[in-house]
Amino acid sequence: MTTARAHVVWSERFLDYDFGPHHPFTESSRGLASQLLEAAASSAPAGSLGWTRSVKVADRPTLETFHRAEYLDFVESASGLAKQLLLDTGDTPSFPGCYEASARLVQGAIEALENTLEHGRPAFHPAGGLHHAHPQRASGFCIFNDVAIAVAHALQKGHRVAYIDIDAHHGDGVMYGFYDSGRVLDIDFHQDGRTLFPGTGFPHEVGRGDGAGLKANLPFPPGAGDEALLPTFRRVVPTLLRQFRPDVIVLQHSVDGHFGDEIAHLQYSPKAYAEVDRVVLALARELTHGRLLVTGGGGYRAESVSRVLARTGLILAGLPEPPEHAPLPSAWRKEFHTTFGREAPATWGDAVELDPSPWTDADEQNLVAQLESKLGEKLSVP
Ligand SMILES: [Zn+2]
Repeated sequence: MTTARAHVVWSERFLDYDFGPHHPFTESSRGLASQLLEAAASSAPAGSLGWTRSVKVADRPTLETFHRAEYLDFVESASGLAKQLLLDTGDTPSFPGCYEASARLVQGAIEALENTLEHGRPAFHPAGGLHHAHPQRASGFCIFNDVAIAVAHALQKGHRVAYIDIDAHHGDGVMYGFYDSGRVLDIDFHQDGRTLFPGTGFPHEVGRGDGAGLKANLPFPPGAGDEALLPTFRRVVPTLLRQFRPDVIVLQHSVDGHFGDEIAHLQYSPKAYAEVDRVVLALARELTHGRLLVTGGGGYRAESVSRVLARTGLILAGLPEPPEHAPLPSAWRKEFHTTFGREAPATWGDAVELDPSPWTDADEQNLVAQLESKLGEKLSVP
């Protein structure tokens, strides 16, 4: 068998990360993404996709590369209780077994990272990307920060890491976790913190100490979509990565910037996500010998999360992308219906009319000018 062109980490045990039926975050939509990816890749040449389906619970020293011991003790004790406690100030409750469930997601990120470091091909962890957790606290549905721990793991191995985050919410746990690091370039596209949790991620926040000039924040107003994300992404990401010269790229690939998301208010389309994937994949080939870890993250409309992440897996494996009007497999649609109790989408894309975007060319020039003055880097039009 030939070496797979991309590797996916998905264990059914990731579904244990479950805040209950009334909480907006669910790994079920990531599970449906994995199923759809598998079905869509089933006619591809054997070995196009490799899979890790059994993932252990990350050990304590691994968790301590990012989280404080007192916080780990606190989660471990809450995890043993039958009742739910709040692990942060509002949105992130404990549940029985939450320590193990969270630590298994961490191990998924570590295994995906190890895979891409070893084989130089993209590795995909759709269940991960819990970027809000801080060293000493849970935040924003994130108990342990699997993607920050993967970054810490890469740093321990002596690598320089470029971290790119397209979640609608600012990836505060990762950015502030490595704010002083001169070995982590962090570029974060998100809805303006004045309009959305966690309220951070402004262009003037560029890092500190050795990390000064290595953190780039690109906030967009509510209602912005592809016309905001794609030109700024193409302008900022390749330039900063080429200058930084990472050994590995980490892409936090949330889907809550998608139009129709239940929590955030951006309007990205599947086309924009696919373009981001292609740009990042090309940069990994150019700069990091193919070393690329892609995680999932936020996303609160299962119809978007499942289809976009499945498409990302196909792109990472170099497989043909299904057209928007292509039908979805009936067995998969049945599974979607069973899981969510509502009709599954029929095709890979939705025909929708988007709201007018507030984003203008002048906004782009203004944002780029702010970043150029703060980062001291010329971000020319490609
Ligand atoms: Zn989010």
